Amino acid sequence: MAGNNDFNQKPNNRNSFRDSNKSKKKSFRTLLIIEAIVLIVIVVGFAYMVLPGFGKHKNDNNNNKPGGAQNTEEVKNSPTKEPTLTPEEQEQQSAEAAEKETEQKIADLVAKADRLALGYDYDKAIDLIKSFGDNYTDYDALTKAIAGYEATKQTLKPFGAYDSVNQINHIFFHTLVADTKKAFDGDYEANGYNYYMTTIGEFNEMMQQMYDDGYVIVSIHDVAKKVKGEDGKTKFVPGDIMLPPDKKPFVISQDDVNYYEYMNDDGFANRIVIDENGRPSTEMKLDDGTVSVGDYDMVPILETFIDKHPDFSYKGAKGIIALTGYEGSMGYRTNDPTSPTYKQDQETVKKIVKVMKEWGWEFASHSYGHRDMGKATYSFTKKDTDRWMKEVGSLIGPTDIYIFPFGIDIETTMGHYESDKFKYIKSLGFDYFCGVYKDPWIQVKEDYVRMTRRPLDGQAMLQFPERLKDLFDLSKVVDKSRPKLK
Ligand SMILES: [Zn+2]
Repeated sequence: MAGNNDFNQKPNNRNSFRDSNKSKKKSFRTLLIIEAIVLIVIVVGFAYMVLPGFGKHKNDNNNNKPGGAQNTEEVKNSPTKEPTLTPEEQEQQSAEAAEKETEQKIADLVAKADRLALGYDYDKAIDLIKSFGDNYTDYDALTKAIAGYEATKQTLKPFGAYDSVNQINHIFFHTLVADTKKAFDGDYEANGYNYYMTTIGEFNEMMQQMYDDGYVIVSIHDVAKKVKGEDGKTKFVPGDIMLPPDKKPFVISQDDVNYYEYMNDDGFANRIVIDENGRPSTEMKLDDGTVSVGDYDMVPILETFIDKHPDFSYKGAKGIIALTGYEGSMGYRTNDPTSPTYKQDQETVKKIVKVMKEWGWEFASHSYGHRDMGKATYSFTKKDTDRWMKEVGSLIGPTDIYIFPFGIDIETTMGHYESDKFKYIKSLGFDYFCGVYKDPWIQVKEDYVRMTRRPLDGQAMLQFPERLKDLFDLSKVVDKSRPKLK
């Protein structure tokens, strides 16, 4: 113990200083006294170094005295140059730190609530602010935020710029062309892609123009909703979408998100995946053989767009993903029990669906075999729908949306569906039926909803451009790499 030596030296020095000209007896008594002093010094020194807290208070007050702080810990913790804070100053310092922390908490809370309000969810934004605690009224930033949301709420109108649910557009796409060189290479499939597909460039321009024009994505379940009537029976009624007066609600869907075999190496994504950040994305095989995860189809592209423009989505609504079953779903061959990855693919699809639903996506049946369901017999319809329920419905969970293949309705009636085919599909839980038409059209019946969709593909843009005038300036949309329609 190095410290002991220090203490030993002091008395020794003193000893030699005193012990100069006295007798032996006196020297002996002096020696005893010195030994006693040494012993006391050792004991005190030991206690100083080993016992916690011993001498601490003394040290605090004697920081500037040499040798006052033998304990190295004390030296580290005590400010050597700055003067020590008084208890009042310490109190003030910790109060300032707490205030800063509260300010940060408030800023974070308001930022989160602002984001909800941007997505037109003012009530949720207000609830979030109030979750600060009963004393939220003590803070200007919080009461101001709530006042702002309440004020905006007063300006909202049912269906925003529209007078009725009948004006709401439902637009749809197929898998987007990621690589135009490959899709429009003149091979056997190229003309089909030119008719029925939209390129990523076109899609982005369409979304931008719609966003700039005040369009907002809504869920079909908000366009028309199921309510319980006074008689206790459920029925469908127009929804109560509340938007600023310049906003136009619309529904968006994508058909055949199956990534069929015939599209391989034609410039499309290969399948849907969840990326490393837990976000729905797509995977695509690139020219050099590597596999890339990124914005190669509608799902992640729309996610990116809405992340940048949160006011493009009403209360977190995204799109409807329509799936057939004959080649599995979303790029996984879950239709084939002999596939070596059959079980694993089923689990993967379930996981993807769970994440996508959390991110606001909805799923629809697009039939199992993609046949003309208008011409189909009752027995075919039953078999096809049963198979879809078993192989696809079992993975994506309950859905009430049925999107007709080729857009061909199950019935041509303008009145009420009455066929056995309708009754059977309805009995499996389907309530929303979607065909295709050039203009917005919807029927909200007591027991179901019928809503047509507008195609925004090559055929619509090149063959019937006048039909899209209300939506786009097509001169800025159409991809220059598109060949002429054949
Ligand atoms: Zn289809």
